[in-house]
Amino acid sequence: MSSEKNTVQSETKEFQAEVKKMLDIVIHSLYTEKDIFLRELISNSADALEKFRHQSIMEQEVFDSQVPLEITIDLDEEKNTLTITDTGIGMDRGELEANLGTIAHSGSKTFFTKLNEKERQDVNLIGQFGVGFYAAFMVADKVRVKSRSYRMDDMGHEWVSDGAGTYTIAMCPGIRRGTSIILELKEQAKDYANEHTIKRIIKQYSNFVPFPIKVKDEAINTVQALWTRSKNEIKDEEYTDFYKFIGNAMDEPLAKLHFSAEAPLSIKALLFVPKDNFETMGLGRIDPGVSLYCRKVLIEQHSKTILPEWLRFLKGVIDSEDLPLNISRQALQDNSLVAKINKVVTKRFLKHLGELAQKEPETYVELWKTFGVFLKEGVISDFAYREELGKLLRFESSKTDSGKLTSLAEYVERMPAEQNDIYYINGPSREAIENGPYLEAFRKRNIEVIFTLDPIDDFAMSHLARFDEKKLLSADRGDLELPETEAAKEAAKEETPKEVMATEDSDSLTKWMKEALGERVKEVVASKRLTDSPAIVVNPDGFVTASMERLMRASGQDGLQPFGAKNLEVNTGHELIKGLAGLKEKDEALAKSVVEQIFDNAMIQAGLMVEPRTMVERTYKILSRLVQNQS
Ligand code: ADP
Repeated sequence: MSSEKNTVQSETKEFQAEVKKMLDIVIHSLYTEKDIFLRELISNSADALEKFRHQSIMEQEVFDSQVPLEITIDLDEEKNTLTITDTGIGMDRGELEANLGTIAHSGSKTFFTKLNEKERQDVNLIGQFGVGFYAAFMVADKVRVKSRSYRMDDMGHEWVSDGAGTYTIAMCPGIRRGTSIILELKEQAKDYANEHTIKRIIKQYSNFVPFPIKVKDEAINTVQALWTRSKNEIKDEEYTDFYKFIGNAMDEPLAKLHFSAEAPLSIKALLFVPKDNFETMGLGRIDPGVSLYCRKVLIEQHSKTILPEWLRFLKGVIDSEDLPLNISRQALQDNSLVAKINKVVTKRFLKHLGELAQKEPETYVELWKTFGVFLKEGVISDFAYREELGKLLRFESSKTDSGKLTSLAEYVERMPAEQNDIYYINGPSREAIENGPYLEAFRKRNIEVIFTLDPIDDFAMSHLARFDEKKLLSADRGDLELPETEAAKEAAKEETPKEVMATEDSDSLTKWMKEALGERVKEVVASKRLTDSPAIVVNPDGFVTASMERLMRASGQDGLQPFGAKNLEVNTGHELIKGLAGLKEKDEALAKSVVEQIFDNAMIQAGLMVEPRTMVERTYKILSRLVQNQS
């Protein structure tokens, strides 16, 4: 026997470790919704047919070029088998090994090793990550795959496995192009050899497969492209069924957009927003869910080019007659037409979200809570849509009730006449912000402050930079000049002014404090904004806010670009600060410890890390002195 791989008669191989794990889950944990195995196999066949159709447009010679593109299901109740045959692209020996013996998608790999017992039974979740081909083992004791590639030089192979750790591959000459999957059904899965059962499942899950699915020569599915039909002819259930089909979903979509345009480009788009954000459920980055078609022919499944990356949570179809049918994937990436379609659909979708927010505010809030993070990513990564995205942002603020959200437009409407800028402040929670020192100056002036509770919010705000021509400013900037609002004037009248230190004394105190803190601060200044708290740290450069700094530190970016020191603002009307001047004369070492502690407290209130060990030692030192003085 020659060592040439293709001529090796038969060889037995081990599944990759992750596949074994997945097979174990499929065989032992997926008890419910066994029906989905058929959907998975049919959808693989449909993909293979789409791939073939595309290849046959691109290539000169393909094997069996005259065979019709279809899926056939054969049932044998006596032998207890079910066979799914497609005339798609097929697989050669290497492809059989790579595709059915390993899991390529690295996300799915980790996902399947991390799944816990409860999640294993969540079909909706499993559907998203696709057990795919391996779903066959939910119902079969043994699976045979006979396949022959569309390439002229292939010869046909058979892959066999009982799912228990190994598979065998052997030559199988004389077969037609495409793939047959033969399931030797488990005793308790007998019903899947029954014609009625299979027809019902096809109708339920695979009705929109764009190729005929035949059982006993009868096509069972409605082969049509829903997106090409006119909106008012389509029933809600049809949309939902179609969504379930293309989104591999079991539930209903949260929102949808179906639109068509004729000029300047001919575009038909049907987009769905799902209910769940699977990116937060363990898979890491999800693949895009919108596929690109030209006159109902699939050009690129789950296209990375037809929409911006930050819209990867959408599911659906975009079809444009203007695209050349035989365009290759590479050519798609720098095709200017594709870029134009991308822009038109993105704008239209964002407009649709704006309308949704008006007409169905509750649905929009739900959408925002689940997918807002993608829109923020859009603000950060895509300059082109900043204005549209700015209108879609939602936040809690000092004027909303807890858990309620406001738009920036609503914020602007509430602004007092004297206010020109929009303010925001980050913090780990609403309570932390409300009890922290940053709001003081704003409360007094009746100025609303947006709460940026999500770590990426401040990046979004600083990229957005302006909204409705108003600057977006973080309330922890050192250079804030707050307007004298009516409310501020009223408050000033009622307050008995606090006795502040004389400028000279305050200057010498802040100078000494700066010396005491050294490089830890850039400057120590007397604060104009504080009323109740003794001190606050602010950003001298007005760019990197505390939450941005936290996030960058967490992702290890501080090594690349060290963060500048903060400014410490002190309230020279506060007893603690006033007392410090006296203490410094009596016991400079103790006064220095107090200054350090004030600084650490202010850092903590800004949500920034301090070194706990030094801090604890220092507080003990201060406390000991306090106890000694009392006894
Ligand atoms: P997925 O479909 O998510 O990639 P699967 O485990 O279902 O994962 O399939 C793995 C790969 O096997 C597919 O990507 C495809 O390349 C190949 N494959 C599966 N079924 C077929 C088929 N009927 N015809 C051709 N290739 C197939």
